[in-house]
Amino acid sequence: MVTRSTRNLILLGATGSIGRSTLAVLRAHPEAFRLTGIAAYSSVSVLLEICREFSPKRVCLVDPGAAERFQSQVDDSSIEILSGQSGLTELAAAADADIVVNAVVGAAGLRASLATVAAGIPLALANKESLVAGGPLFQEAIAVGKPPILPIDSEHSALWQVLNGERRESIRRILLTASGGPFRQLPTDAFADITVEEALAHPTWQMGPKITVDSATLVNKGLEVIEAVNLFQVPIDAIEIVVHPQSIIHSMIEFVDSSIVAQLSRPTMVLPIRYALFWPDRVPGDDGRIDWNELRSLTFEPPDWERFPALGLAVEVARRGGTAPAIYNAANETAVAAFLERSIGFIEIPRIIERTLEASTLVDHPSLDDILTADATARETARRGMEKVKW
Ligand code: NAD
Ligand code: MG
Repeated sequence: MVTRSTRNLILLGATGSIGRSTLAVLRAHPEAFRLTGIAAYSSVSVLLEICREFSPKRVCLVDPGAAERFQSQVDDSSIEILSGQSGLTELAAAADADIVVNAVVGAAGLRASLATVAAGIPLALANKESLVAGGPLFQEAIAVGKPPILPIDSEHSALWQVLNGERRESIRRILLTASGGPFRQLPTDAFADITVEEALAHPTWQMGPKITVDSATLVNKGLEVIEAVNLFQVPIDAIEIVVHPQSIIHSMIEFVDSSIVAQLSRPTMVLPIRYALFWPDRVPGDDGRIDWNELRSLTFEPPDWERFPALGLAVEVARRGGTAPAIYNAANETAVAAFLERSIGFIEIPRIIERTLEASTLVDHPSLDDILTADATARETARRGMEKVKW
C-alpha cells in the first residue's frame, strides 16, 4: 500500500448512523485522516462530544437555533460555527478538504453534494437521495470520473468493487440485491395494520429511521436502482433486483460471457465506508468477516412487485428521467415523515408517491432550480394529498 499523508476530511451528517460508523473508521485510523469539519441538523450535545474527541475547525448546524445553542456551550472559541443550508454548502466545498463524506439524510444533502463535486473534491456518498433527485446534474462528473464519486451505499460499493478494472461494455446485467425488509413474508391483508415499531425493526441492518422505513416499503431499493443507473450509467433494463434475505451478497454483476462476480461480507456499513475512504487501497479490518462454519445458506427470490408497489414506481420514474425521480423522492420523504409521526398508515406511503407523481408536471432536462422547485412542489402536493387520509 502506498503511504499517504494525512488527509483533511469533512463529515456531513456526523450524528447519524453512517456518521457514527464513519467516526469509528476515523478513530481506527488516526494517522490517515484529520476531521476538519462536521455538520448535522440540530444535535448540539453529540456535536460537542465529537468536537472534544476530534477537534474539527468548523461545525455546521443547519438549524439556526441549534447553532446558537452550540455557540453558547462550546469551550473552544476557535471553532468556526456555520448554519443553514448555505453553511452546509460552504462546508461541503471547503478549500482545504481532501475528501467529503455526505451522510445527510434526504434531498437536503443535494446542494452539498453538488458543491463538493463543483469544487473538485472527492465525494464519498451515502446520501443516495442526492443522486436520485439530482441525477442529471451529476452526469458530467460521473462521465469523466472527476472528482471521483465514491459510493458508500453497500450495494453500490459492491458493484464498484466488482467493476474494478472491468470495461463497462462487458456488463450484461447488474444484480442488485435486497434483503426484502421486515415484511417480505407478511400477508398482503396485514399491511394495513403495520405499526411504526414493526417498520423500524429491520431484520439485517441497523440504520437511521428514514432509510429503515424505506427498506420496509422497498422504496430504498427503488432509490438504489436510480442511484445505480446514474452512478454506473447503465440502462434501467440492465438492472435486476434479487431478494436475498441474509444480506451477505451485497450485489453482483453478470458480464457478457455469463460470468457473475459478487461481493460478500457480513452486513456492516463500516466496510463500504472504509473502502470509499481508502480507495484505491484496501486496509485490514475484520468488520464484515464471514464465519464459514456458521454461514449455512444463501437464498434468493424475485421481488414481489404487487405487495411493494413503490418499487415499480421507482422503475417507472427511472425510465421517465428528468424531474420524475426528484418528485418520487420528495413525495416519499414527506410520506415517511408523516408515517413516523403516526399521522398516516404504512400502505399510504406508495399511494402518496403515486398520486403526487400523477399530479406533477415533469421537466425533461432540469436545471438545479427546476429540481429544487419540483422537490418543493411535490412535498406540498404530497402534504395536501395526506390531509385526506390522515388517521
Ligand atoms: P440518520 O437519520 O441516522 O442520520 C442523518 C444525518 O443527517 C444526521 O446527522 C442528521 O443531523 C443529518 N440531517 C438531517 N436532516 C438534515 C438537514 N436538513 N440538513 C443537514 N443535515 C441533516 O440517517 P442514516 O441512516 O445515517 O442515513 C444517512 C444517509 O445514508 C441516507 O441518505 C441513507 O439513505 C444513506 N444510507 C444509510 C445506510 C445506513 O446503514 N444507515 C446505508 C446506506 C445508505
Ligand atoms: Mg443500500
